Amino acid sequence: MITVTYQYKLKPTKQQIQTFEQWLETCKKVWNFALRERKDWVNSRKSPINSCSLKAEYIIPADAPRPNYFSQAKQLTTAKKIYPELTIPHVHVLQQTLRQLEAGGIFVEDINFKAWAKGLFGKYTLDAAYGQFFNVLSYVCWKRGVYFAKVDKDYSSQICPNCQTHTGKKDLSERVHFCSNCGYTTNRDVAAAQVLCQRGLVAVGQPVNQIAFGGVLSGVLNNA
Ligand SMILES: [Zn+2]
Repeated sequence: MITVTYQYKLKPTKQQIQTFEQWLETCKKVWNFALRERKDWVNSRKSPINSCSLKAEYIIPADAPRPNYFSQAKQLTTAKKIYPELTIPHVHVLQQTLRQLEAGGIFVEDINFKAWAKGLFGKYTLDAAYGQFFNVLSYVCWKRGVYFAKVDKDYSSQICPNCQTHTGKKDLSERVHFCSNCGYTTNRDVAAAQVLCQRGLVAVGQPVNQIAFGGVLSGVLNNA
């Protein structure tokens, strides 16, 4: 397969720059609103079964469907009647914004596969081609417009994703993450994945306070 890429340089006029900026501003608002709605829904499903935050808890009816591209695009049509600024960018521009949000992003641990193969796990891990898998994954993400990034893996299994406390080294046989500081308990791999996701979000410049409030993944307010 041959991939040919052309690059074009735009030379917009002042008027065009103003238009672009206005469109981008509207796209940003639509993105942030739709993202907030998705996060609230997810958070409402993640409160621990045996406790409730003292400050706030996300309460969304149990039968409320998860917001997706189709429901949000439909809402956009309704919102246009109330907010005329939404009618300024072309309808496809705002729909594309929602589509990109639907695609989300993927963060993976930045693993040194060669060093890994030399150590405990043996050479056969190279045969299993995990490194190759990441290459393929990053290519697929690029093709599908999904953001892909490798993030620092250090201590990802030792940090509490809920309060960022260092909970110490775990044996591989220890399958549960339990934080003695905040009480957050979950599967060890889930906790590590949450830490990696938080690092990825920080790396791409998502508002850091989302993490400081512990709301992104756990739905439990953070007391750190
Ligand atoms: Zn904790």
